[in-house]
Amino acid sequence: MTVSITGATGFIGRRLVQRLHADNHRVRVLTRSRSNAQLIFPVREFPGIVIAEEPKWKECIQGSNAVVNLAGMPISTRWSPEIKKEIKTSRIRVTSKVVDLINDSQDEVRPTVLVSATAVGYYGTPSGNDYLAEVCREWEATALRVNKDVRVALIRTGVVLGKDGGALAKMIPLFMMFAGGPLGSGRQWFSWIHLDDIVNLIYEALSNPSYKGVINGTAPNPVRFGEMCAQLGSVMGRPSWLPVPDLALKAVLGEGASVVLEGQKVLPARAKELGFQFRYPYVKDALIAVLSQGSPS
Ligand code: NDP
Repeated sequence: MTVSITGATGFIGRRLVQRLHADNHRVRVLTRSRSNAQLIFPVREFPGIVIAEEPKWKECIQGSNAVVNLAGMPISTRWSPEIKKEIKTSRIRVTSKVVDLINDSQDEVRPTVLVSATAVGYYGTPSGNDYLAEVCREWEATALRVNKDVRVALIRTGVVLGKDGGALAKMIPLFMMFAGGPLGSGRQWFSWIHLDDIVNLIYEALSNPSYKGVINGTAPNPVRFGEMCAQLGSVMGRPSWLPVPDLALKAVLGEGASVVLEGQKVLPARAKELGFQFRYPYVKDALIAVLSQGSPS
């Protein structure tokens, strides 16, 4: 299969590219910076990989069997008005571009499946601070503009646990500093997924025609944040009793901290119906895998 991927250079994308490449699929990396992508995917390790900036996305997408859309400005930053705008527009802009290119494909080989990222932020927060819900709604609606003969899987992703990126990588040093401990009341839900599982879910969605529509990309056992902190403390061999101040978390995650401070309980009902096997259903095992060696591939 030939797969074009936006956001391939990111935390999830890099692992997905490795997986697809290892299984002899042909990968096309759609990026804003070819030179940066070439550093991440050196030719000696990824022979045959195609790396393209716009306007070459067109020929990449049009000769692909499938597209994975992961691009977007990271949310774990301080949200100035400009950044907040870019968090949304970056996603809409790239998704719109991808959808237009798929819809314009006339070639014999053209994409028949679009796997597009979205987030559990779609479900809103208990406090009603729903900027991320609005972003997700528009992001998903844009992906759904794709022609009806293209199968679309929208992966509403929880907080991805991995060593080299995402919220956890930023939280670990904080936990070291504050000796661990819950944030806020610790009662808020934390819907998480291990990096290997989200990559496997995307991989499945590419090849299995039953993966269609909205699929929650979360582990089957979400935990309250206090529980997550206790497990993290125990895996790190640190006590977990001092509360980490919300302010400290906001300092490293910016307003993106709302994902952790105002989480929802999201279950992977559809993924389970589809028979998806989670490699890490429990947070303790996921944390052990992440902290031991950066998680197995
Ligand atoms: P990353 O932030 O690691 O990577 C996203 C990629 O998007 C970057 O590598 C970059 O690719 C591209 N990008 C960054 N900024 C912009 C911009 N301003 N305009 C256009 N493209 C940009 O994301 P993840 O791998 O962590 O996540 C992938 C997707 O899944 C994201 O859209 C994210 O919102 C979503 N998601 C992730 C979760 C997580 O916990 N990681 C949770 C829920 C959803 P390049 O420089 O090559 O163009």
